[in-house]
Amino acid sequence: MKFFVETFGCQMNVADSQEISRYLLSRGLTLVNSREQADCVFVNTCTVRQHAEDKALSYIGRLVKFKKEKKPNQKLIVTGCAAERIQSYICSRFPEVDLVIGAKSIGKFDRTIEKFFKNGSPNQSAENNEEEWFEKEYASLLPDESLTAFVTIMRGCNFSCSYCVVPSVRGREIYRPAVSILKEIREKARLGLHEVMFLGQTVNSYRPKTPNPGDNGNDIVDFADLLRAVRDVSGVSRIRFMSAHPFYMNSRMIQAVSDCQNMISDIHLPVQSGSDRILKRMRRNYTRADFIRQIESLRNAAPHLTITTDFIVGYPGETQADFEQTLSLAKHTHLQSAFCFKYSPRPGTPAAQEPDNVPKEVKEERHAMLLAAIKEK
Ligand code: SF4
Repeated sequence: MKFFVETFGCQMNVADSQEISRYLLSRGLTLVNSREQADCVFVNTCTVRQHAEDKALSYIGRLVKFKKEKKPNQKLIVTGCAAERIQSYICSRFPEVDLVIGAKSIGKFDRTIEKFFKNGSPNQSAENNEEEWFEKEYASLLPDESLTAFVTIMRGCNFSCSYCVVPSVRGREIYRPAVSILKEIREKARLGLHEVMFLGQTVNSYRPKTPNPGDNGNDIVDFADLLRAVRDVSGVSRIRFMSAHPFYMNSRMIQAVSDCQNMISDIHLPVQSGSDRILKRMRRNYTRADFIRQIESLRNAAPHLTITTDFIVGYPGETQADFEQTLSLAKHTHLQSAFCFKYSPRPGTPAAQEPDNVPKEVKEERHAMLLAAIKEK
C-alpha cells in the first residue's frame, strides 16, 4: 500500500507526521511524494489561527473531489489539531473522509490505524486517549530528515493563555520517558543526525513522571537534566528546543544552558507583550521584569546566545500605552529577531469572549512599527 502525508502547522505537527510515516514504513507501506499516487492520504491539520484551519479544510475538499472523480477507493485520514477541534464538522462536511484522529489521540496512532486497516472504516473518529506514546524503531531516516532530529518530548499544555486554543486540542501535559527519548536520539545520531531539536508546547516544563537515569548515570528529573544527558550522547553536536516558556526559565534551566553552551546557540522565548497589564489579561504567568531578568541571565550564562521571541499586537483592550511598553521591551532587550502576530480571536478561547476592540488599521500600524523596531535592532 502507498501512502502520502500532507502537514499543516508547527514543528510539532511536522514531528507527528514523521512519526506517522516512520510507523507506516515499519509496517511495510511505501511513502510516495504525491497524493494522486497514494492509496492512503494523511492530512495533519492545524487550528492555531483561522487561516491555518481554512487552508487544511480546502485541501481536504480538493482531496475529496479527486477521490470522487478519479480514485474512489483511496483512503482519506485526517489528523492533528483541527481534527481534534472540529471532528464532527469534518465528518459531516466530508463523509468521504474515512478516519479522523484528533491530536489528543496521536499517542495511540499505531492501534487506531491497525484497527482501521483490519476492519476498513470502523468509524469516522478515533476515541481519545491522551496518556499514550507509541514507540517506533529508527532503522532508517525519512526522506525529509537530513540534518535535524526532531524529538517530541511532551504533549499538551497545562497553561491556559487566554488567546490560545492549544490546551483544548492537545490536552494536559504528558511527558515522554527519558529512556525512550535518549534511545531515539542515540539511534538518530548513529544515522547521521547530529542536531537535536526538542519539541513541546512548553518544552522546558518537561519533568518525567519517574526520574530516568541518563547515559551519564544521573537521574533526569526535568528539562535541565535532559539537556545535560543529551550533551553526553555521542554523535550529538548541537541542541535546539521549542517552544520554551518564560515561567520555566528558572536558575536550573539557565545553569543547564550555560553547561551546554557549546551546543546551544539559540533560544526562542515567546514573551507576547511588554505590558504587565496585557500579560496578566493573557494569563502568561510572568511579568515584564521577569522576562528582562531572564534575558540578562541567559546572556550572562551564554554570551554568544541568539535569543528570539514572539509578540502579539492588538490584544483586546490594548492601549497605546500598552503598545509603547511592547515597543520599548523589544528595543530594551536587543532580541535578534521576533515573530510578530496581529491578534485574531480563536473560538472557544477566553479571549474570544472579549470584544476584539483594537481597530484593524491600528493592529496593522502597531505590527509594522514593531517589525521596524526589531529590524532596526
Ligand atoms: S503556553 Fe500558552 S500559548 Fe503556549 S501552547 Fe500553552 S496555552 Fe498556548
